[in-house]
Amino acid sequence: MAPAAETFEFQAEISQLLSLIINTVYSNKEIFLREIVSNASDALDKIRYQALSDSSQLDTGKDLRVDIIPDKENKTLTIQDTGIGMTKADLVNNLGTIARSGTKQFMEALTAGADISMIGQFGVGFYSAYLVADRVTVISKNNDDEQYIWESAAGGTFTLTPDTEGKPIGRGTKIILHLKDEQLDYLNESKIKEVIKKHSEFISYPIYLHVQKETEKEVPDEDAEEVEEADDKKPKIEEVEDEEEGEEKKPKTKKIKETSIEQEELNKQKPIWTRNPADITQEEYASFYKSLSNDWEDHLAVKHFSVEGQLEFRAMLYVPKRAPFDLFETKSKKSGVKLYVRRVFITDDATELIPDWLSFVKGVVDSEDLPLNLSRETLQQNKIMKVIRKNLVKKSLELFQEIAEDKENFDKFYTAFSKNLKLGIHEDAQNRNILAKLLRFNSTKSGDEMTSLSDYVTRMPEHQKNMYYITGESLKAVQKSPFLDSLKDKGFEVLFLVDPIDEYAMTQLKEFEGKKLVDITKDFELEETEEEKKLREAEEKEFEGLAKALKNVLGDKVEKVVVSHKLTGSPCAIRTGQFGWSANMERIMKAQALRDTSMSSYMSSKKTFEISPTSSIIKELKKKVETDGENDKTVKSIVQLLFETSLLVSGFTIDEPASFADRIHKLVSLGLNIDEEPEADEAAPEAAADVPNAETGDSAMEEVD
Ligand code: ADP
Ligand code: MG
Repeated sequence: MAPAAETFEFQAEISQLLSLIINTVYSNKEIFLREIVSNASDALDKIRYQALSDSSQLDTGKDLRVDIIPDKENKTLTIQDTGIGMTKADLVNNLGTIARSGTKQFMEALTAGADISMIGQFGVGFYSAYLVADRVTVISKNNDDEQYIWESAAGGTFTLTPDTEGKPIGRGTKIILHLKDEQLDYLNESKIKEVIKKHSEFISYPIYLHVQKETEKEVPDEDAEEVEEADDKKPKIEEVEDEEEGEEKKPKTKKIKETSIEQEELNKQKPIWTRNPADITQEEYASFYKSLSNDWEDHLAVKHFSVEGQLEFRAMLYVPKRAPFDLFETKSKKSGVKLYVRRVFITDDATELIPDWLSFVKGVVDSEDLPLNLSRETLQQNKIMKVIRKNLVKKSLELFQEIAEDKENFDKFYTAFSKNLKLGIHEDAQNRNILAKLLRFNSTKSGDEMTSLSDYVTRMPEHQKNMYYITGESLKAVQKSPFLDSLKDKGFEVLFLVDPIDEYAMTQLKEFEGKKLVDITKDFELEETEEEKKLREAEEKEFEGLAKALKNVLGDKVEKVVVSHKLTGSPCAIRTGQFGWSANMERIMKAQALRDTSMSSYMSSKKTFEISPTSSIIKELKKKVETDGENDKTVKSIVQLLFETSLLVSGFTIDEPASFADRIHKLVSLGLNIDEEPEADEAAPEAAADVPNAETGDSAMEEVD
């Protein structure tokens, strides 16, 4: 008795994806073949890698290959590989029940107008089979399990059956697509060849297309009596008379047609990286890139090189046009660079091949020196690997510099991967300076464009010693910061650092071309002339008393209160110490849910309350403190308010927003000439409007607490 089929439900999102794929009107359906072939190639990679440490894995004696078998009679297209195959559990998990992070993101992308051909990048390429098939059968055999049949016509469920009666496939996977009636074109030899050439030419295993060949064979013709003149224009028929003229004495024969299946290899190219770059076209580079990366778009830039000498390898490194959707997802820690040893694929999981911050670079490395039987452990300690890694970083940096020569391309590159460059600055001390040249920021002088640090340097006035930057949450938040005033007055440019990672990178970088990089939201020494110095010292003296009084009012909320010439347009602001966190860093750290709280006590910002001696508010406040003293209710209230608004404008948050709001409301009431504590029923608009102006005068402010 045949074993019973088990029925499984597709995971909900996958089910949704399937109906989307089936119901979308979409013309570029051919990409299904690319996806299925790419899965076959992955499966072959996997078995080859396993066999490196256990050669018995290949015992079935089957070549590593992909076969494409069209069957017009049954309207099926079969793609078979001799790869790793899937166990029963693999079939259940990989083809239907375990959600992939990309499923939802892909559907969202589709709704937002993305193209179905992007499916491979989201890790759900298999389901593209349903673009052309209304039913898919997967027969698979893994070395660790029996042969199983997976089958589904979508509709929410799939079945799984032990394959006890079918032909054993040895090892690997056979995907049978039961084509929709309007998709039968994919059974034609020419169509299949076209699609494979376009999308899968650089797959590194042979792909064989099974084609029906009709051959003519000469057999004796007993029935023939006479030689007739052949008519070339007659349509071909099964029997063709021998038509040679002038040889009337020859025994009569006839030609019959025999059909046989021939296997034609579709991708005979040798590996593209072994070829001479001069002979490789842009299209070939692009096509290889797509098969390597699952990307649907061409690459942005490529570097194809070989290293010779003590150590020999060839490599191709590609930079994509966009960041993948999961660039910084820790789960997708696969290296983008595939490792080959003397043309044999080893792994695409060698994280030691390229540092994390370069994880967006795709490519291949083919080493002449590494041993073939590399285990994961030896891979990690291998000296050759270390040298290769160093070279890949160096060449990647060269490639980025080449991209930087074309502004438009570099803009794309920077939009997609600036975070990686900054991560590189943070992590790679050796290449910090090269990477720094690639950084771009908006600034007080850059307008809508971004500027490089080198360009900044060329604009520095002679007496400017340091390079200045401001950190904050957004361009809008920093562009009008009071910290900018004095630097603007001096004609010093200030860079806007508004990406959370900027500050990490800059604090590692410390300087550029010998110039110190200075965060102006922190304490720093501003270049000044002798005259400015004298003036500053005089004013510091003059306002010393006020500063003391303010410190007494604010208590522990601030480290100190200082008279500052670095503020010109605003009465006050809060700067942090040079070595603690900046306001921006404090904000970022607070936002990190899982941070280690033990750090925050001594790293958290030391706040300096700065007051500007040129501000009329400060001047008036000074007078008021001198007459009324620092314990006066109004003085206290005003100082609190100035402190709290300074917190906000300097990028901090307020600890007690409610009391801040209270103070503001009192101020608003004053502005609207409302009595300090109106009765509940007097709060109606008419009542408020009725309050005569005369009732509140100049002195009202003093009543506000
Ligand atoms: P991806 O290839 O990005 O992982 P797919 O949707 O194309 O996503 O495939 C899903 C999974 O199904 C693969 O990761 C693999 O585990 C499994 N799979 C698909 N095709 C094959 C095959 N021919 N041989 C072995 N496993 C396969
Ligand atoms: Mg795939």
